[in-house]
Amino acid sequence: MEKILENLKKNNMQPYFVQTKQEAMELLKTLIQPGQTVSCGGSVTLDQLGVLPFLRNGAYTFLDRYAPGLTQEETADLFRKVFFADVYLASANAITEAGEIYNVDGNGNRVAAILFGPKSVILIVGKNKIVPDLKAAAQRVKAIAAPLNCKRLGCKTYCAETGSCISLQNPDAQMAAGCASDTRICCAYTVLSHQRIKNRIKVIIVNEDLGY
Ligand code: SF4
Repeated sequence: MEKILENLKKNNMQPYFVQTKQEAMELLKTLIQPGQTVSCGGSVTLDQLGVLPFLRNGAYTFLDRYAPGLTQEETADLFRKVFFADVYLASANAITEAGEIYNVDGNGNRVAAILFGPKSVILIVGKNKIVPDLKAAAQRVKAIAAPLNCKRLGCKTYCAETGSCISLQNPDAQMAAGCASDTRICCAYTVLSHQRIKNRIKVIIVNEDLGY
C-alpha cells in the first residue's frame, strides 16, 4: 500500500488511505467546502458510502443526475454543467501499483469530468480495485466490473448473460475489444498517469472491498 500511495504522489495525485467507509466519509467532508458546486459519477462505491444523501444535505450546490423528473435532455445538460463544478466525486475501475487510475465508461460523462473540468476530483476506491498493472486493470474490468455493472443496469450484453466479456474468449484480443451491443458500457478507456495539475486528483483508498 505504501508503494501505491507513494506512486500516486509521484504522479501528482494526492493520496489518502483510510480503514473504513466511515473514515472515508469523514475525510470527504474536509475536502468539500460548504457552498461549493459538486457532482458525481454513477458509482456503487459512492452508494455504499452514502455519498448521495450527504451531497443532498443542502450545504452544497449539488448537480444531481438522479434528481426526480429530469428529462434526457436535462440530464445531458447537467453532464455539461459538471465541467464547471468545484468538485467531482467518483470511484475508479482499478488502481495499479504504479499509481495509475484506470476507468472504462459507456456514456463517457464520468471519465470526461475526471479528465478535465471540475477543479477538484475525489476518487474513492476500495482495496479490491488494486491491481498489479494496466493489463490486470483491463482484465479486471472485463471479468468483474463490466459484467456486474451490466447486470445491475439491465444492459443486454454478452457479459451480463455469461459473467465475462466476449473478448476474453480470444487470448490475443486487445484492450478495447468487446461486444457490439447497443448497450455496451465499455466505450471509452482512460488511464490517469502523471498529472500536470498537482493534486487536482485526490484518491481515497479504503481498506475495505467496495463496489465492483
Ligand atoms: S465489451 Fe461488451 S461484453 Fe465486453 S465487458 Fe464491455 S459490455 Fe461486457
